[in-house]
Amino acid sequence: MSVLNSTAARDIAHQLHPYTNAIRHEAIGPVVIERGEGVYVYDDQGRRYLEGLAGLWSVAVGFGEKRLVEAAKRQLEKLPYYHIFSHKSHMPSIALAEKLAEMTPGDLSHVFFTNSGSEANDTVVKLLWYYNNACGRPKKKKFLAREQAYHGITVASGSLTGLPNNHRDFDLPAIPVRHLTCPHYYRFGQEGETEAQFVDRLIGELEAVIAEEGAETIAAFIGEPLMSAGGVIPPPNQYWERVQAVCRCNDILIVADEVITGFGRLGTMFGSEHYNIQPDVLVLSKQINSSYQPLAAVVISDAIYKAVADNTGKIGTFGHGYTGSGHPVATAVALENIAIIEERHLVENAARMGRVLQSRLAALADHPLVGEVRGAGLIAGVELVADKSTKAKFDEPGRVGAYVFHRAHDHGLVVRAITDTIAFCPPLIITEDQIEELVSAFERTLEDTV
Ligand code: PLP
Repeated sequence: MSVLNSTAARDIAHQLHPYTNAIRHEAIGPVVIERGEGVYVYDDQGRRYLEGLAGLWSVAVGFGEKRLVEAAKRQLEKLPYYHIFSHKSHMPSIALAEKLAEMTPGDLSHVFFTNSGSEANDTVVKLLWYYNNACGRPKKKKFLAREQAYHGITVASGSLTGLPNNHRDFDLPAIPVRHLTCPHYYRFGQEGETEAQFVDRLIGELEAVIAEEGAETIAAFIGEPLMSAGGVIPPPNQYWERVQAVCRCNDILIVADEVITGFGRLGTMFGSEHYNIQPDVLVLSKQINSSYQPLAAVVISDAIYKAVADNTGKIGTFGHGYTGSGHPVATAVALENIAIIEERHLVENAARMGRVLQSRLAALADHPLVGEVRGAGLIAGVELVADKSTKAKFDEPGRVGAYVFHRAHDHGLVVRAITDTIAFCPPLIITEDQIEELVSAFERTLEDTV
């Protein structure tokens, strides 16, 4: 990529890119993506890439889906924008809230819409603070999260996130949060410890932190059913069952952040079903409308809704909301997107193709650079290491991952590098042949990597 290319020069001149080393970007410039079709995207030089991460873990139905374009167009022509503040509403947000209440697990009954996953988790924090004040428990405000969790980047959601790059020099965490050990057995299991003993230790830590802080000061435990952006980390056996039991015993709510695992990613409609989680609050985004429009949703239990609603009666209003909350175009596209997921049986396809992807990647476990292959459904991570036998990381963390990320482009593949873990999360429409294409492109990339 030449930085003399004028599109690249214009990009460098005026954008500060998210999640990008700006100095390196000035040197190498962007890959400018121009269009997409199915599981593929095309750059402005006409090169085709298999999108192995579905954009940012989000384009469930693939790129260029005409039904979503038509749904957006119809809504733009009818009512391009309206808000849902102060007793106003519109059909797309009504119908989507109704659909989400119907399809989500347990007694989740009411939906609050935001524009992004970060805002949704920010809303969770404020909503549960408000809820506990409404319930006469003003001290119950702290959150439990995990190291390597990803919950977004606003001041509150960024505080819940447990990744150093999201805290460093941003002065986060800025809200009361305790980060517990990441439940990654391969990395954090101790010498001689079985997976079951590892879970015992994590549960012991959870109980100790609750005892130390006082259950009466802790509002909720927030977790991704399968940790994704922090390295694609499936929980060990029994982890979620036991976390929930401890939280229930201590009157601590469970927030399932399903921004990535929602809408079929793990081969079940929600990750909570996959891991037997009964959340009090469910956070959704991305695959809700395949990210064709910015949209996220916080789905809350009836009990939380009633306490919050009663308090608005006393105060006079619920003083929280975004101009884009329930945006008619974003919610109309979500309804069509969910209809496609259901009609085309994409959850079942994710389960079936997930088995193909996982077993095809598992076959790479013997490669000298591969430390661990992990995942569930259509999301997987391949952790690259300097020494397989000791699990030693590379001297300069992230260098090999970045190399693979860039090199994969030469083989027509887009992946994400999370330090030195290569993440795969293709559109749910992917076929067996396309999985073969994805894995062979990755194999060729690994051959180039020394
Ligand atoms: N929560 C989870 C689990 C995520 O993976 C993400 C984004 O990847 C977010 C929250 C933040 O969403 P957004 O980038 O839309 O703010």
